[in-house]
Amino acid sequence: MTEILRVESLKKSYDGFLAVNGVSFSVQKGELKALIGPNGAGKSTCFNMLMGQLKPTAGEVFLNGERITGKQPREIWRKGVGRTFQITGTYQSMTVIENVQMALMSHHRRLFALAPRAWKLYREEAFEFLRTVSMADQADRPCSILAYGDLKRLELAIALTHRPHLLLMDEPTAGMAPSARVALMQLVADIVKEQGVSVLFTEHDMDVVFAHAHHIMVLNRGELIADGSAEEVRANPQVQEVYLGG
Ligand code: ADP
Ligand code: MG
Repeated sequence: MTEILRVESLKKSYDGFLAVNGVSFSVQKGELKALIGPNGAGKSTCFNMLMGQLKPTAGEVFLNGERITGKQPREIWRKGVGRTFQITGTYQSMTVIENVQMALMSHHRRLFALAPRAWKLYREEAFEFLRTVSMADQADRPCSILAYGDLKRLELAIALTHRPHLLLMDEPTAGMAPSARVALMQLVADIVKEQGVSVLFTEHDMDVVFAHAHHIMVLNRGELIADGSAEEVRANPQVQEVYLGG
């Protein structure tokens, strides 16, 4: 097993309130790992520290063995940590494929001065990413008319253009119908399997978590109370107390 991400005793204090209180865990290559926990448990705070949006109060973060604690978001992104946004980052007036082409231009760091030729080149490459998320048939539709679930799949394709080692997804299925949630996570699971990318995600729907995650971590009041397989987590008395109130 190859360790992609290691987090050691991570803490975040907001004016003395410890939103994340000494969290340690790791993510392996090709692993689909869930971080669950009640509202306010500290999940987003954790993600924001991993992405460089928030500076940890204490603790360390290592990516492929390299210390990335407190680095700028752009630098962490360049080192291969991708993300999907809870709020869509797509350009509504552009077509589906144009959005992927834009992302590829950014990934290859091409200047717009070189655009016409590169643009055509990236169309072919963009189709590959659309095929990965089964959206090639919608390539030339404007984003403004996409169904919500399709927009989510497009965001996933855009995140993949960066070829991340680790993809962080904070509530990727928020606002989706149950069947669409399962379908999106099935797609993510397929991508993890085929491409060997690692994914860390947060999710409210327990069915989705137990159906797809290889390992599950449970955060409660800023502390990890479980980290293991679905069976281990389900059998954990502390988890049962948090989720079942007794
Ligand atoms: P989750 O994503 O698990 O719902 P969050 O990480 O968003 O939890 O929040 C964890 C705790 O930190 C909550 O109690 C929240 O109110 C608090 N919190 C989050 N962001 C801030 C902030 N910018 N300033 C002060 N408190 C915050
Ligand atoms: Mg959150």
